[in-house]
Parts: sequence; C-alpha cells; structure tokens
Amino acid sequence: MTFYPYKNGRLHIEGVSLDELAARVGTPFYCYSASAMETAYTSFVAALGDLPATVCYALKANSNQAVIKTFAQLGAGADVVSEGELRRALAAGVPAKKIVFAGVGKQPSEMATALDAGILQFNVESLPELEALSRVAQEKGSVAPVALRINPDVDALTHAKISTGKAENKFGIDIPSLRGFLASAAELPGVRVEGLAVHIGSQVTDVNPYRTAFERLVALFVELRDAGWPLERLDMGGGLGIAYRDGAAPDITRYAEIVRGAVAGVGCKLIFEPGRFLTGNAGLLVTRTVYVKHGTARRFVIVDAAMNDLIRPTLYDAWHDILPVAQFSPDAAREPYDIVGPICESSDIFAEQRSLPTVAPDDLLAICSSGAYGAVMASSYNSRPPAPEILVRGKDYAVIRPRMDYDALIGQDRLPEWLDDSQQSSEPRGAA
Ligand SMILES: *Cc1c(COP(=O)(O)O)cnc(C)c1O
Repeated sequence: MTFYPYKNGRLHIEGVSLDELAARVGTPFYCYSASAMETAYTSFVAALGDLPATVCYALKANSNQAVIKTFAQLGAGADVVSEGELRRALAAGVPAKKIVFAGVGKQPSEMATALDAGILQFNVESLPELEALSRVAQEKGSVAPVALRINPDVDALTHAKISTGKAENKFGIDIPSLRGFLASAAELPGVRVEGLAVHIGSQVTDVNPYRTAFERLVALFVELRDAGWPLERLDMGGGLGIAYRDGAAPDITRYAEIVRGAVAGVGCKLIFEPGRFLTGNAGLLVTRTVYVKHGTARRFVIVDAAMNDLIRPTLYDAWHDILPVAQFSPDAAREPYDIVGPICESSDIFAEQRSLPTVAPDDLLAICSSGAYGAVMASSYNSRPPAPEILVRGKDYAVIRPRMDYDALIGQDRLPEWLDDSQQSSEPRGAA
C-alpha cells in the first residue's frame, strides 16, 4: 500500500494533492501521513505479538504534538531525552507511567521535573548521573526508578554519527563495570535499579547486531537477578531502520524473532523505543524549483528547501528519494541533476547526480522519507523560517505547525539598552 499515490497526474499524500497543500502554506513544507504512522505502529506492535511490551515512541524523531498524540491514542508511551521532550509528551497526553527518560546528560532540574511527573524510569548511563539522581530524589523524599543502560560493545553497522553501542561511544555503562556499579547503586538511598537498557544506534538495517546486543543484555540480566538484584524490566532501545531506497528495509519479523529468542524464558517486562521506524517513511518535504542552472560540470536544480530544513544529507550523507510531483512515464528521458538549496554552504545538497525526468523552474519536488529527524533538526540558519508541518489523514489535513513569520523570527532577538533607540533616555549617560 502506498500513502503517496499519483492521481490525475499529480502526487498526493493519502487523499490530498501536494499542489493543494503548497497553495495553502507555500513551499517548502513538511507533510506527514497519519495512516502511514498508524500502520508502522500497528505493524511494530503486531510483530511483537504477545510479548509483554510497552512501546515508547522516541520523540526526538519527530516531536510535533499532533504526531505524539497520534501514537499516544494508539497506546504508545514515550522515550524522551530532555525536559523539553518530557513536557511535550505530557502535553500530548502520554501517561507519565509510560515515559522513559534517556540521555547521557540529564541535569538535576530535569530529573526533578520528571520525578514530580512520576515517570516509569530513568535510563542512567554513569555513576555521577546516578548519584545526582539519588540526591534529587532524596530531597523530594522519593526513590527514582532506574534502568542502567549498558554499552554492549556491538557494532550496529550504521553511520558512525548514529552508532551508539560501541565501547568508544559516549553511551552506556561498560559491561565489566556493571557489578561494581550496582554495588554503588545499592548504597544510594534515592534510586532503585529496576531494569537494564540498551540502545545500539539508529538506522540499523541489518538486524544481526541486535542479536548480539540482546543476548549480552539478557545474559547480564539473568546473572544479576540470580544474584539477588530485584530486576524486572528490560529496555531493548530503538534504532530499527527504514528503507530510504529500494531494498534496504530491515525485516521487522526477524527483529521480533531475535527479541523473542533472546528473552525466551526470562519472564520480565519489555520496553521498546522506536522513533524513525514509526515516522521516517510517513513524511515528505515538498519543495519548489527556483532555478535550473547549467554549470560546466554539473546541472543544478536549485530548490527553495535547504539544509536548515532537512540536514540529514549534509550530516549523515543520507540518501532521500526525490519524486517530481508531476507524474512521469517510466521511460521518460532522464538527466543527472544535483538538487541543492539556496544556503551559502557548499554542503547544502539534497542529492548529487540524481537521475530525474527533466526539471523546470516552478516544478514541485517531494523529498521522501523525511518524517524522522527532519523538522526536529531544522534551524533558522540564513534567517530562513523553518518549514511548516501538515498532518494528513485520508482526505483531511491540518497545519500542525505554521510557518514562522519574519517578525516572529527577528522578534526572538533582544537589544541591549545601549543599542536600543526606543529605550534611550534623552539625557546622555553620565551627563548629570
Ligand atoms: C534516538 C534514540 C532512540 C530512537 O532511535 P530511532 O533510530 O529513531 O529508533 C531510542 N532510544 C534512545 C535511547 C535514543 O537515543
């Protein structure tokens, strides 16, 4: 099933034409298919079958309130990595008891907010963090529920910038240190270690590294529980990848089989933290061609979206399929184009030497698989207001984040008194 059909010669998202959306909010804009998100969520849950699992959507992939709420209504919890994300999850109606707080650098104030909210667990990654959490909880007369995130020293076989499970990565506690760590934890009155957690990286498409990571995690869990530690939960993390181009989709059924094999007979509750898998292929970034420029070496399509809207190609050398909104025949003549944005950086490139049917100025293009790590990583670099976001469901759509206008963008700045003409007193300073 495709959520992006061509109808009457034009590309649609579900039942809504991209032309209509472009007319409504201008370009560039993000649009998301609610049905694609719901389908991804239900397929993830279905693959887990009867495993005792809580699926905590990793907000950092796409934290728009409408997106979080779409998953919350299906029963999802949330995986958050900051107080801002915690507040977003709570505001969207995610029950605190389904919220996991991850991240290597939680600050005491963030811990306090999460404790007050009564979240399910803190995933702790270092002894100093555990000590800080204990102090914060003690001050409140409470005890923080903790899962220790281990570093399984597994290569997730993904891009180096999104690999998190190797010994040289900043994440997690090394397995050899864990016993000593638990002994220290037992001395801390403000924390109770209830589980172990792992997260080996993002855009993992070969599921085999999960097998190694989960086996190490479960072996530790069983060993520690047998030694008397009252552990009751395993957090398997997220990271399951999506197909950005043909054929590279991970097999969700095999992933679930690996989980089932690893936890067989352990009898504890499980947490999963998918982000990209739930939203990545549910989004398009739609952009308009401004100019087509014929250089001596290359042919450039200069579009009105840029790296400030979608930084994945620049940051991770990521491939995104690009579809013309005008339908084309499979045997249409094609030319190699570099699809680039208007920002004053040579790295502002969406695709190099991409073979596309002839592109003309004003043509709309859809940059596919932009629903995860797209809008959330946007900036206003070059003083470009971040692109608006639209959620589509069937024939309905809603603007879920309007485009910021220039007054709002500039209005974020404040002038110091000595530069502010409107504040200056008529008396020159020091004249009295
Ligand atoms: C980023 C992150 C996730 C989500 O990763 P995806 O690749 O989007 O599934 C899950 N858990 C933790 C701890 C993370 O840092």
